[in-house]
Amino acid sequence: MRYRKIMPLAVAAALALSLSACDRYSEGFEDGRGEGYAAGYAAGAALNGSEDGGGFDDGYSQGYSEGYSDGLKSASEYPPNGVQGGSEYPPNGVTDPSNGGVSRPDPVSPEQDSSGFVSLSDEVPGVLLELRYYSSYNFVGERIDGYEEPVALMTREAAEALKSAEEELEALGYRLKIYDAYRPQTAVDCFIRWSENGDTQMKPYFYPNEDKTALFDKGYISKTSGHTRGSTVDVTLFDMALGRDADMGGTFDFFGERSHRDYTDGLTEAQIANRSLLRRVMEENGFKSISTEWWHFTLKDEPYPRTYFDFPVKSLD
Ligand SMILES: [Zn+2]
Repeated sequence: MRYRKIMPLAVAAALALSLSACDRYSEGFEDGRGEGYAAGYAAGAALNGSEDGGGFDDGYSQGYSEGYSDGLKSASEYPPNGVQGGSEYPPNGVTDPSNGGVSRPDPVSPEQDSSGFVSLSDEVPGVLLELRYYSSYNFVGERIDGYEEPVALMTREAAEALKSAEEELEALGYRLKIYDAYRPQTAVDCFIRWSENGDTQMKPYFYPNEDKTALFDKGYISKTSGHTRGSTVDVTLFDMALGRDADMGGTFDFFGERSHRDYTDGLTEAQIANRSLLRRVMEENGFKSISTEWWHFTLKDEPYPRTYFDFPVKSLD
């Protein structure tokens, strides 16, 4: 008799465990979905080629709205074989609801070969790691799919440039703290599914002023990310004398204007100076910044500008 009560719970628990962090709240999945696709297609139609490939943070505002004008372009290179941006989502030939039912071509499979990648802890031993997507302190609130071990991976070329930046900063009394580096396509797909479900547990910390259902439309979340190409990193400054992060006047992954690189409203001189220092040193060492996120940098001469990887984040062989 006891089992009659226990079994349904066990089944429910097993089902919950089988779902990823981005699938746990399925109610509301359909809400706004068509609108999101429509925004994506519209953006894709307006764009061709990409400076920075979009993704949760890259695509943030620049890809889908006013960012076009400052030369920053959106996620139009995925898949990387000439299919125009925005037109290949949803993937796998799923019918596009916003385009009269025209079937889309299958995307190129994301690359699984990690041989061009290195561990930042090995190549840039000075960095601190605070890998938010391996933890539950991120906008989803759980570890993100594809992050299997607490390591930060990047292409060898990007790691070498980061080492140079790190050494320059160390001489000034700082270390680089890494929030995210290489991000598998699996993780980006997880973000997209999360954007379509009903979960809002982390809203007070990451998007207090935004309606979650609008995050896709507004470009806060996109279908690809420059991080997936392996030469993009999210970083902040750690002040060695103070023993804590430098005050940047904002927090990582905050969905809002305060995250804009050049935002100054209400910021102190010190906060503005810290943002400026991070940007200057990263840019002098081969990285480019984006206008929408003070923490996000991509190697200018990235070795795989059109390749989106999908091997899991874990120790390399
Ligand atoms: Zn980023």
